[in-house]
Amino acid sequence: MRLRTYNQEDVNGKKVLVRVDFNVPLKNGEVADDTRITESVPNLLRLLGFGARLALVSHLGRPRGERKPEYSLEPVAHALERILKARRAKVSGVTFVRDCVGPEVERAIAPRWRGDIVLLENSRFHPGEENNDPGFSARLAAPFDAYVNDAFGTAHRAHATTVGVTAHLPSFAGMLVLKEVTALTRVAEKPRRPFVVLTGGKKVSDKLPLLQHLCGRAEAVLVGGAMVFTLARARGLATGKSLVQEDHIDACKALLQNYQDSTTKLVLPEDVVVTDDLREPKLKENRALDSIGEDEMGVDIGPQARQSFANHLSRACTVFWNGPMGVFEQKPFDAGTIAVARAIAANKSAFSVVGGGESVEAVKKLGFADAVSHLSTGGGASLEFVSGQELPGLKALAI
Ligand code: ADP
Ligand code: MG
Repeated sequence: MRLRTYNQEDVNGKKVLVRVDFNVPLKNGEVADDTRITESVPNLLRLLGFGARLALVSHLGRPRGERKPEYSLEPVAHALERILKARRAKVSGVTFVRDCVGPEVERAIAPRWRGDIVLLENSRFHPGEENNDPGFSARLAAPFDAYVNDAFGTAHRAHATTVGVTAHLPSFAGMLVLKEVTALTRVAEKPRRPFVVLTGGKKVSDKLPLLQHLCGRAEAVLVGGAMVFTLARARGLATGKSLVQEDHIDACKALLQNYQDSTTKLVLPEDVVVTDDLREPKLKENRALDSIGEDEMGVDIGPQARQSFANHLSRACTVFWNGPMGVFEQKPFDAGTIAVARAIAANKSAFSVVGGGESVEAVKKLGFADAVSHLSTGGGASLEFVSGQELPGLKALAI
C-alpha cells in the first residue's frame, strides 16, 4: 500500500489539521506515560519547519459522545509544550482550545493567533466522531486547508477525525504512520524466513483473525496467555479454572484442523504455571498442559515452554509479538513474558516487531525496548495490519 505524503508546497503557510494519537494514560490529572506524545513530535517539527500552522486533534479514552472533564486533553497540552521546549523547538506555546469544532477553533487558527501549535479538545466529546458523521466531518475540516493523519493507533477505526475529514481536505500520511507501516509491512509481506509469531493475551477471540491469517504464512506460531486454554479445550483437554471462551471452542477446533493441514506449526506450551486464586495465590506449580487440576488455573507458560519458545525465537529472522504469555502484571507470573522478551532481545539478527498495548508495556518495563527493531504505538491497529485486514484510516490516505 502506498500512502500520500506531504512536501513543503503542500503545507507551507497553510492551516493544517493533524490527527495525532494522544490517547495517553492520565493519573491525578497528569500524563502518566508520554510515549505517544513524544512519538508525534518528529512529524510536528517537520510540518512546522515547512511553515505550516498546526491544530492537533485526538481522542482520549471513551467519553461516549459526551463532554466529560476527566477525559479532557488539557493536561496533554502542557505535556506537549514541555516536550517541545525541552527540544528547543521554535514554538512559543501550545494553545488549548475547549472544543474541536466551531468558532473557537476558527479564532485560534486565524492569522493573528500567537501560539505556534493549537491542541483541540477530545474529539470523542462529540457523538459525530465515532459515528463518522458527515456533518461533523465537514465542521472539523472547515477552518483548514489540509489534513495530516499521524495517529497510527487509531487507523483501524473509521471515525470522523480518521476517515470522514479526508473527504473535505487534501490528506496526507504523517511520519509516524509511515514508520509504522514500513515496519509492519516487513512483517506482513514477504518476511525474511523463518518467520515466527508469538501471540498471547487474554482473549482468543481477539487473536483468531491473526491465527487464521498466519496459517500457511509463518513457520511457527507460538501461543501463550489465556488463549492457550480455549485451544486446549478444543483439543479435548481439561483446563480446570483457567480462562476459557466457551463460545469459541468450535472456532478453535476448526483452526487446529487448518494448521494440521498446513506447513505452519502451531505451538502450544507443553507446560503451564498454575495457581488456585489470583487475588490470594497460595499455590504455584508447573503442570503439563494435559494435567491441570480441577481447582487450578493456568496463569503463565511453564519452564519447558519458555525454553522451547526461546529456541524458536532464537532461530527466527522475523518476529512479531502480540500479547503477554501470562498474568505478567503479577509476580511471579511474569516469568514467561520475561523469558520470551529476553529471547527476542537476544536475537540481534532478526527483525522484531512488538505490537499490543500490554506486550509493549512489558518490553519497556523489562528494559528491552532498544533491543527490538520496532515497538508499535498501535495495539489493535498493528494486530489488524498483520492479520491482513484493511485499515480504513490508511485506505483513506492511499494513492
Ligand atoms: P495486548 O494488549 O498485548 O494485545 P491483551 O490485551 O490481549 O494483550 O491481554 C493482556 C492481558 O492478558 C493481561 O492483562 C494479562 O494479565 C492477561 N493474561 C495473560 N495470560 C493470562 C492467563 N493465563 N489468564 C488470565 N489472564 C491472562
Ligand atoms: Mg490489551
